[in-house]
Amino acid sequence: MQRRPDAVSGATLFLSDLHLSADRPRATEAFFRFLEGPAAAADAVYVLGDLFEYWAGDDDLHEPFSARIAERFARLGRSVPVHVMHGNRDFLLAQRFARAASTLPLHDPSVVDLYGVRTLLTHGDLLCTQDRRYQVFRRVVRNSVVQGLFMHLPLERRKRIIGGARRMSEGEKNFKQMDIMDVAPAAVVHAFRRHGCIRMIHGHTHRPARHELRVDGRACERWVLSDWYSQGQYLRVTREAWKSVTIAFDPR
Ligand code: MN
Repeated sequence: MQRRPDAVSGATLFLSDLHLSADRPRATEAFFRFLEGPAAAADAVYVLGDLFEYWAGDDDLHEPFSARIAERFARLGRSVPVHVMHGNRDFLLAQRFARAASTLPLHDPSVVDLYGVRTLLTHGDLLCTQDRRYQVFRRVVRNSVVQGLFMHLPLERRKRIIGGARRMSEGEKNFKQMDIMDVAPAAVVHAFRRHGCIRMIHGHTHRPARHELRVDGRACERWVLSDWYSQGQYLRVTREAWKSVTIAFDPR
């Protein structure tokens, strides 16, 4: 009798920066195939931020696009734990979404034990400490009073404000750099040290890679996840190996 490899060792899957939006249906379809295929056979799935291109509030679940994403997650969530961390674009995801999608909110940063390896999970924007302007902006928009006031506005108004900020950012170089700025090496070392980890997984920078470094004499690895603009990608972690897997789709 043949043994299924899954019965010997499971896999935990990580992905980030899908930037799902109704404008890019191929990426959404690729994501649904991921949920029905590799994700359904996993021990757990972790989305490390920027699942959505932007999120104006959980009342957006009235929109068919958002409702469909939540419903597909909920199907998976019945059998596989799905952890979702905030990114810099969808940090307004809240309890109503988590309930509708059967997802588990995940704090940024979080430490998990991956088959015996203590691993730090973070979206990645906190590591971009060289971008002072962004870090100030981040503190303001993550402030609970500011968020409370914003959420009092009608949904359409919130979407217009976010849309306006995004259009501005596309026109303005400084803002554009904010998204593509890389992590600060000192912040990476500090994070490994502070959390006592030897591995780290993050997204945000859209620079997929596996970096090796030594911190206080210990061999560490920093795995950077890809965005889902021209193709999909996830990191498959098992007891034996860590492997980046790509998902091809027509990005038109
Ligand atoms: Mn991001």
